[in-house]
Amino acid sequence: STDKINMVDAPDGYTGQGFFATKLDSVVGLARANSMWPLPFATSCCGIEFMATMAANYDVARFGSERMSFSPRQADMLLVMGTISKKMAPILRQVYEQMAEPKWVIAVGACASSGGVFDTYSVLQGIDKVIPVDVYVPGCPPRPEQILDGIMRLQEIVKSESVYRRGSEAYKDLLNSYNIK
Ligand code: SF4
Repeated sequence: STDKINMVDAPDGYTGQGFFATKLDSVVGLARANSMWPLPFATSCCGIEFMATMAANYDVARFGSERMSFSPRQADMLLVMGTISKKMAPILRQVYEQMAEPKWVIAVGACASSGGVFDTYSVLQGIDKVIPVDVYVPGCPPRPEQILDGIMRLQEIVKSESVYRRGSEAYKDLLNSYNIK
């Protein structure tokens, strides 16, 4: 029982009988990480893998992300899948801007991450040219397990970041590095 714990040997964060001390950032991060509603922005083949990922076999509800949102305003996690043409880039940027903070982005597959095999005049060579990306999932296409791995990696980021992440100087520096105002 808790009263048998010697306070000298108590683990970090234990401050008294029946109490644990933690940071607000950690509590909020834990809640956010386990309730990220995805907004799929799918243009081609990688989107098919995402459909498989959202099916029963892979049970995305384990991560609190089974509730897909097709409105940017109710979404937390933008998953971009497929070839993004330069003409579509402003639309993607607009969708990103319509999402409320806090929001995160996963580039799913080679095309979204870097343009993939489509090194052509018309294809955006990676969505990070127009929006910030938190996690890149490699593959052409990535298997559902890889997409889930991307979501889990994003969860680790979300759990460890500050509540005020998006307003931080580090975040502004990131936007500046992408030349995003
Ligand atoms: Fe299709 Fe491969 Fe591009 Fe995914 S990365 S959209 S599978 S070409």
